[in-house]
Amino acid sequence: MIHQCRFCNKSLKYTFVDLGVSPLANSYLNEEQLQHMEPFYPLRVYVCEHCYLVQLPVFQSSAEIFSDYAYFSSYSDSWLQHAKNYTDSMIERFGFGSDSQVIEIASNDGYLLQYFKEKKIPVLGIEPAENVAQAAKEVEIPTIVKFFGFQIATELATEKKHADLLIGNNVLAHVPDVNDFVKGMKVILKPQGVITMEFPHLSRLVAENQFDTIYHEHFSYFSFTTVKQIFGHHGLEIFDVEELPTHGGSLRIYAHHEEDRSRMRSEHVKDLLEREEADGFQDLELYLAFDEKVKKTKRSILDFMNRLKNEGKSIVGYGAPAKGNTLLIYCGIRQDYIDFTVDLSPHKQDHFLPGTHIPIHHPDKIKETRPDYVVILPWNLKAEIMQQMAHIREWNGHFVTLIPEVRVYP
Ligand SMILES: [Zn+2]
Repeated sequence: MIHQCRFCNKSLKYTFVDLGVSPLANSYLNEEQLQHMEPFYPLRVYVCEHCYLVQLPVFQSSAEIFSDYAYFSSYSDSWLQHAKNYTDSMIERFGFGSDSQVIEIASNDGYLLQYFKEKKIPVLGIEPAENVAQAAKEVEIPTIVKFFGFQIATELATEKKHADLLIGNNVLAHVPDVNDFVKGMKVILKPQGVITMEFPHLSRLVAENQFDTIYHEHFSYFSFTTVKQIFGHHGLEIFDVEELPTHGGSLRIYAHHEEDRSRMRSEHVKDLLEREEADGFQDLELYLAFDEKVKKTKRSILDFMNRLKNEGKSIVGYGAPAKGNTLLIYCGIRQDYIDFTVDLSPHKQDHFLPGTHIPIHHPDKIKETRPDYVVILPWNLKAEIMQQMAHIREWNGHFVTLIPEVRVYP
């Protein structure tokens, strides 16, 4: 089967990384579901040799993936702080006020829009997951339950709903039809409006070996060079970019209509394009080398786990993030290595990880069982988790992270 590039439509011939087969990363199972068949889908990522978009073909309709999504943004303290800081900096930089309209695509449970609402700035969320959108409505964040794209954008534009600030955090990678999505953003942006979007930066994925951030919900993996090309194609100019530490290294891009001359283009744009070119993001070679790097990482993770198990040590996990599922399934790590994992989200507790069927408990289970090693699966939150779980040192427990390589923290 030949797949087509979702941006430039050319045939995809080259594999970036092949992670075998895997169930959908967020399909946590209950006890009864353990008795049933579980669908696995190929997790083979391609790179387009024309536009260098790194991408995963769509196997499951995105409606099925996102309509009952288990991820509630408000459960992460550090993410809430990030949202609050973002709100303050946007108001300061662009001067939004009570006559502005903020629209957020994939607004989740209103974790971000609540801070604009507090400042009396009109907000509107667009969120496809019904259960998550319901949580936003309960705290009076107006939310449309829809997938964003050209069609809904046109409907909103007809109702004169245009954005002074159009936000999309961690959504661009999740969009099956990136052209339809960006075209829609152009439609609802006011003539002098600003778009900001955050997404994981491909350059960090490659440099830090973050293959576990690849799963079926993430259809695209963007370098700055490629994303700039996509926005430009739809008449949007990226006038600034920031590199953020979130999600293992993200970009925040700032875009406006290409006709908008009200803002200068920042030096950061040119700098980052040059840096990516120097790093090889415009050469196929860089992309083709990644698969071997991932295989090597798998071997060293298993070496480490085998050594601990042979010494009779107990290992548990902390967290049940989607990225943990990719890593555990690809490496073949089940309860033969990891007894259980824990998660703060009550939506995940008393469930099982897809594919590996490792049980998910309340974090107190770690205190009760006093394991020798706690593997932090959401390594991007390791500082927060090590602080919160500092008591494992009472019984000489160790924290472990596996990406970019195995690290043990005394
Ligand atoms: Zn392409």
